[in-house]
Amino acid sequence: MKVLKFGGSSVASPSRIRGILDILVSMSNKGDRYCVVFSAFGGDTDSLLTMARMAEQGSDDWLALFTKLQTRHIAAAAELTSGSSQEKLVARVASQHEALRNLLQGVALVKEASLRTLDYIQSFGERNSCMIIAAALQERGVAAEYLDARGVIKTNERFGAAVVDLPTTYRNITAHFSGRDAVQVVTGFVASTPDGLTTTLGRGGSDFTASLLAAALEAERIEIWTDVSGVMTADPRAVRQAFTIPQLTYSEAMEMSHFGAKVIYPPTLQPVTQAGIPLYIRNTFEPRFAGTLISHESVDGGPAVKGISSIGSVSLLTLEGPGLFGVVGTSGRLFGALAQCEINVILITQGSSEHNITFAVSPDQAATAKRCVEETFSYEIGAGRVRPIREESDCAVVAIIGEQMRTRPGIAGRMFSALGRNHINCVAIAQGSSELNISVVVPAVDESKALNVLHDAFFLSNERVVHLFLLGTGLIAQELLRQLHAQRDSLRQNQHLDVRVVGITNTRRMHFDAQGIDLSAWEQALTGSERSAELETFIAEAIELNLPNSIVVDCTASATVSEYYDRILAESISISTANKVAASGPYNRYLHLKSLARLNQARFAYETNVGAGLPVITTLSDLIISGDRIVQIDAVLSGSLSYIFNTYDGSKAFSEVVADAQQQGFTEPDPRVDLSGKDVARKLVILAREAGHALELDDVEVTGFLSQEALGADGVDAFFDQLRKQDDALLATRVKDAQQRESKLVMLGQLVDGKASVALTEVDDQHPFYSLNGSDNMIVLSTTRYAATPLVIRGPGAGASVTAAGVFAEIVSLGSLRSWE
Ligand code: ADP
Ligand code: ASP
Ligand code: MG
Repeated sequence: MKVLKFGGSSVASPSRIRGILDILVSMSNKGDRYCVVFSAFGGDTDSLLTMARMAEQGSDDWLALFTKLQTRHIAAAAELTSGSSQEKLVARVASQHEALRNLLQGVALVKEASLRTLDYIQSFGERNSCMIIAAALQERGVAAEYLDARGVIKTNERFGAAVVDLPTTYRNITAHFSGRDAVQVVTGFVASTPDGLTTTLGRGGSDFTASLLAAALEAERIEIWTDVSGVMTADPRAVRQAFTIPQLTYSEAMEMSHFGAKVIYPPTLQPVTQAGIPLYIRNTFEPRFAGTLISHESVDGGPAVKGISSIGSVSLLTLEGPGLFGVVGTSGRLFGALAQCEINVILITQGSSEHNITFAVSPDQAATAKRCVEETFSYEIGAGRVRPIREESDCAVVAIIGEQMRTRPGIAGRMFSALGRNHINCVAIAQGSSELNISVVVPAVDESKALNVLHDAFFLSNERVVHLFLLGTGLIAQELLRQLHAQRDSLRQNQHLDVRVVGITNTRRMHFDAQGIDLSAWEQALTGSERSAELETFIAEAIELNLPNSIVVDCTASATVSEYYDRILAESISISTANKVAASGPYNRYLHLKSLARLNQARFAYETNVGAGLPVITTLSDLIISGDRIVQIDAVLSGSLSYIFNTYDGSKAFSEVVADAQQQGFTEPDPRVDLSGKDVARKLVILAREAGHALELDDVEVTGFLSQEALGADGVDAFFDQLRKQDDALLATRVKDAQQRESKLVMLGQLVDGKASVALTEVDDQHPFYSLNGSDNMIVLSTTRYAATPLVIRGPGAGASVTAAGVFAEIVSLGSLRSWE
């Protein structure tokens, strides 16, 4: 005998039911012996409860819902059956509706719906669905019979979640099935008291019905068919990367379900575990998929953590005070009191100082729990030895589960560093001595983030989602977005990274989409956005969204933006910035940002600040980490100045070459930022700091080559006027002199003995800088190890595409860092 169960979403429409009928008919044709349990049509139980509440409040609104339910059932009956059997079925269903309507009218009259009445009202859902499906099966030629489970499953009178009398129930089931060959179509969820009053087994209870049948009938297997492909590593609604767990032990499945995996109703496992009946979780929408097998068998060598679950809303109660220290029997009294008040304790932790005991309960039981504990300890509270219960509401419990965790060290460490790195504060921690789970209590707002972060930390093979908040939509940002869009598939395939831009802002508008902005149409989305740009709100929203693996990408040159870095890093959000302001700003702040990042397990990364896409800062820092010492740095660090001096040979006026470079985007809008040497000085400061020198920007000795008139001119046009008047002739002479000596002019930055300088320098044709072309940068690092032949990094050091590629690489590197690293 096999027992099958199909949940509400599997029977939500006649077409879905047809799919199930196909499965059942083919089993019958093969000669399989089976019985089948159904839930109410998806949504009916909720709808019945809502009707009851409405009627209870004296509102007539329930009638509309009732009509909808009625129509749904009759339409399903009509679609799935025909002829005289249809007539019979419709008449039966209609009489059920009549009874239900009378009942609801009764509730409306007395304005009262007790748990007992609610159970009766809910039972119409399962009864109707099974009546209809049994008839549909008969129509397909299967000998099927409707079985109202109230006739066999017996419970106490705890309406809403009744406790089953197992011996009587098992006896009734075996008696009912003995000698019956027809397929029994059994109502899930419903049962009855010894007096015949309708009870229910608790929401989701149809799974339990199936399990009771399986245990009583000593079934060879039980199959629970639902809307997902088995028990997954996490709830797929919360973690998109979740995947099916092929095999679980009963204990692991039990932990998963107790910690919130709705796919199995917790009491379900007990009867089948005792009888050792294998349980399969399968997907009605993908019947060929094997799903999950739950049995006694444990797979050796598999992942230690099998799954992650959560309970979305709990209240944390703490009993504390000096009177608890070393007093025997305190926990016995506490939990005895809770048990007497029928409080279900989800989690318990006690510090070794015994100064407090913390436990988690469902929020709707928190007030009762508090009252009953305070009554129990009223003497101690009165004497000041114990404080009144402290309550923290709006919490969630997140648990990692797996039988083999107990034999593998380091699991808890990985769990907590992953949470810490994502700024999730653990309010309480518990690990059962069985080590089947480690559970943490976190603020409820962090529940989904915690699930994703932990999934990411424990399930390697899967893709991880990286969330970007992009500031600026200039040339670099545009190019970055283009590259991210073009590389999306390859990143997913090769790097297992799903990089989503979830926020973009420029100085005019801002736009968010937590699912990821469509990068083929980001401009329309941004310009069409109703939200005008506001930096403060943009950052606040990036924090508020609370997404795992968040990175703020700064493609502006704005000092105001860089002022927000502290706040961003403090929230454990990493920064990747092409903006040089922070890294070249005051030294103390630079240090502060670095330590903030370290403290909050975030990254503050600015590789593109020097040499655009060239790997300069990473190389330098790798040298230092590996114990090398930087002796000297010689560098051409300005792509703009390189371009200008490599183009300028005296044949055209200097001012013309500058204007040309400006038009092509090789310089800042005001070319003086580059020509003054200020930009080079900034980069040099950053390099010097990476090399371990506490340098300020003012410490860099810059020997300018422009006239004071040009430098001080009011506005860019005036600057060009002055350039023509004052500088063209001067520079023509300088370049001619250099050419005569077979030399070239380069803007050279140097760091020697901790002193930094920038000057327009002549280099002869033997000098490595002589051969630089176009906008090339070149950084020559002389170190203790690279003494005879220095380490040289050379390549284009300006331009949107190389800079964007540098930012891109940085994002990939930050995104690939696993959460616990
Ligand atoms: P049914 O109506 O078939 O009983 P449920 O809604 O009760 O279905 O249970 C299936 C749902 O359980 C899935 O849609 C899924 O969102 C949720 N769920 C939660 N945790 C898990 C998990 N670890 N694996 C699979 N599903 C899960
Ligand atoms: N129909 C009931 C519910 O929605 C029982 C079940 O589906 O298992 O909770
Ligand atoms: Mg269910």
